[in-house]
Amino acid sequence: MFAGTPMPDGSSDMGRVDRQSPGDDQLRCSSCGDVIGVYEPLVHVLGGVARPTSRAAEPELAYSSGQHFHLDCYEGPGPDR
Ligand SMILES: [Zn+2]
Repeated sequence: MFAGTPMPDGSSDMGRVDRQSPGDDQLRCSSCGDVIGVYEPLVHVLGGVARPTSRAAEPELAYSSGQHFHLDCYEGPGPDR
């Protein structure tokens, strides 16, 4: 077992692209904080109006204001739940 390999402390940036950097176009759920997948149904809340949609249907959502939730995470005043 080799124990002499130094662990990178995160300061190496040679030729590596960090795809997990914040400010990415990834959409995060305002409830659980997890990334919302492109094809996952989501709820976009803007100006007090909740609207079910998905990033596949509206790619520009990643750059829009408002809040985004997983469909399962959003607990709006829906009478059906
Ligand atoms: Zn969520």
